[in-house]
Amino acid sequence: MKKQDIFNTSAPNKSTAIIEGESSGILNWNDIRMPHMYKLYKVLLLNHWIADEIPMSKDALQYLELDPKEQETFKKQIGLLAVLDSMQTMFVGDVKDYLTDSSLQAIAAIIGQQEVVHNQSYSYVLSSIVSEKEQNEIFEYWKHDPILLERNLFIRDAYQEFRDDPNPQSFFKAVVADMVLEGIFFYVGFAFFYNLARDQKMLGTSQMISYIQRDENQHSYFFGEVFKQLLVDRPELNTPENIQYVYDFIDEAVGYEIRWAEYLLNDIAGIDLDEFREYIRFVANKRLRLMGLAPAYPEAQNVMPWIKPFSDEALNDTKTDFFEAKSRNYGKTSDDNGFDDL
Ligand code: ZN
Ligand code: ZN
Repeated sequence: MKKQDIFNTSAPNKSTAIIEGESSGILNWNDIRMPHMYKLYKVLLLNHWIADEIPMSKDALQYLELDPKEQETFKKQIGLLAVLDSMQTMFVGDVKDYLTDSSLQAIAAIIGQQEVVHNQSYSYVLSSIVSEKEQNEIFEYWKHDPILLERNLFIRDAYQEFRDDPNPQSFFKAVVADMVLEGIFFYVGFAFFYNLARDQKMLGTSQMISYIQRDENQHSYFFGEVFKQLLVDRPELNTPENIQYVYDFIDEAVGYEIRWAEYLLNDIAGIDLDEFREYIRFVANKRLRLMGLAPAYPEAQNVMPWIKPFSDEALNDTKTDFFEAKSRNYGKTSDDNGFDDL
């Protein structure tokens, strides 16, 4: 695949295709191929946040009172999230260069920046609650923990294949892997922190996690739109084999996420693993819907009503901060963005 030229005076400003199209390289938001991308751009900007604005002093005290299993899970979840966001920064950068559409390149640039903010937030949380030595140890977990490593390799392989050999088929597979990473692989982690929050524990961390979740949901929306447009632009990719690949990949991802939940949440108070298994399938259905595909698990429901206050709607539809009643300007989303319950 060819990278987008810096500029091309003989090409139109409005791109002709998502990859390998004609595009002058100039960004004119009034003349873009997918006009809803302008709205997404504004939502991403309105959602801006930085970790340093979240007070952590209460969390620092409460962390010491968590039981050892909760502390261990806390650290492993942060260790996982740090790897996911590190991979994302690299992957979004790779994708960006090949998007032959200035508006999509612009949004990829902002998403990449948000992944860096997410990464810093993990360091910020850890620096508030554990020693520097322990912080550094947590950032090593992913290299040695076999369950963590296998699920990360699952994504890494698709991303690396696209980096090594960028072509429409490897791009297709990498976008599917992205939907899993941003749209499924964060969710056990999110739920663990929200479970602590419903006991009024580690509210600073949960607030930060809720901002990350809000961002990831927008990123999933973006890549879902990229996926759908890719199938329109490149109908040769829209084959029964490729669609089956999506379902197989997502089913395998659901298996990894369930194993991760069984590994980490097995005796965490307030967590019911049976509910969790169904919740993960429910989340997977939502990602398929963003990709324009039918649910893989039509029977799956959100059986964890306690998590609904942490949905995007609950966070986006209020100007009052969920956790601290601090006024913030949330970006508004609406139904046509494809967002719904967490
Ligand atoms: Zn992220
Ligand atoms: Zn993301």
